Amino acid sequence: MHKPLRIAAIAAACAVAGAGLCGAGAATAGQSTANSTHEPYNIGLLVKDIDTYYGTTADADGVYQASPDSPYAKDLARLDKAARTYIDQAARKARHKGEKPAVVFDIDDTLLLSLDYEKRYNYTYNATTWADYVNRADRPAVFGSPELVRYAEKKGVAVFYNSGLSEAQRPAAVENLKKIGAEVNLDADHMFLKDKANPPSYLSACATPGTWNCTTVQYKAGTRKHIEDDLGYEIIANFGDQYSDLDGGYADRTYKLPNPTYFVS
Ligand SMILES: [Mg+2]
Repeated sequence: MHKPLRIAAIAAACAVAGAGLCGAGAATAGQSTANSTHEPYNIGLLVKDIDTYYGTTADADGVYQASPDSPYAKDLARLDKAARTYIDQAARKARHKGEKPAVVFDIDDTLLLSLDYEKRYNYTYNATTWADYVNRADRPAVFGSPELVRYAEKKGVAVFYNSGLSEAQRPAAVENLKKIGAEVNLDADHMFLKDKANPPSYLSACATPGTWNCTTVQYKAGTRKHIEDDLGYEIIANFGDQYSDLDGGYADRTYKLPNPTYFVS
C-alpha cells in the first residue's frame, strides 16, 4: 500500500523544529508574536489524543492494541449497527429489482488495524518496514469488521475487497483476513489488489503494463465501476477509512471508518 501523505511525521517534524518546540507543554502559550495564520494543533497533544481515542495499551508482547471500550470502538459499533440495518434493507430492495447486491471493503484500517505500526513508527511511513509489517499477517481486526463481512454474506450480498495493497502482498492479506475471521470470498475474483506490472484493462485510462499513473480515487472507483458495469453487481455499500476509498461514485452508500493516524489522498 502506498501512503504518500502522512500528516504527522512526528520524528521528522521535531528534528526540524528543534527540541525546544517538541518538549512537553512547549510553544503553545503566549504566542504574542505569532504570524497571522493559526498555529496548528500541538503534535504532542495530538498523539495523546490519538492514544486516548484508541485506548492504546501495549500488550504482554509489547504490541500496541486498541481497547474494545475505547471511543474508537464505540464509534465503530455505532457505524456497524447502522450499516447492518441498511444492508438488510438494501439487499432485499436490490434483489426485488433483479439486481445482484454487493458490498466493497477496503482492507488496511477498515478490516485490519495498523495501530501498532503507526504508533511504533511515530505515524510515519516507510515502504520497507510497512511491507515487513503487512507480511507478518498478524494484524488484529478493526472491531466489528469481520462480523460485518460475515453479516453481508449471510444476507446474500457479495463481498468484494478493494485495496491499495500490492499483488505481492496477496498471500499475507488472505492469511491475515482468515486469522481474524473474515473468511469470505478471499479469492482473486473478489479481492482486488494493486497490480502495477500488469494492470487490468479497465484501468487503461491511467495504467498500462509498467506505467502506473492512477490516483487512489481513479484506482478504487475504477475497480468499483468494473464490479458494477462488467461483473453486473449493484454496490449497495462501500466501506473505507480514507475519503479516497469512497470518492468517485459507484456505490449507493459510503461508510467512512475512523482513522486519525494517516491521510491517503
Ligand atoms: Mg484503508
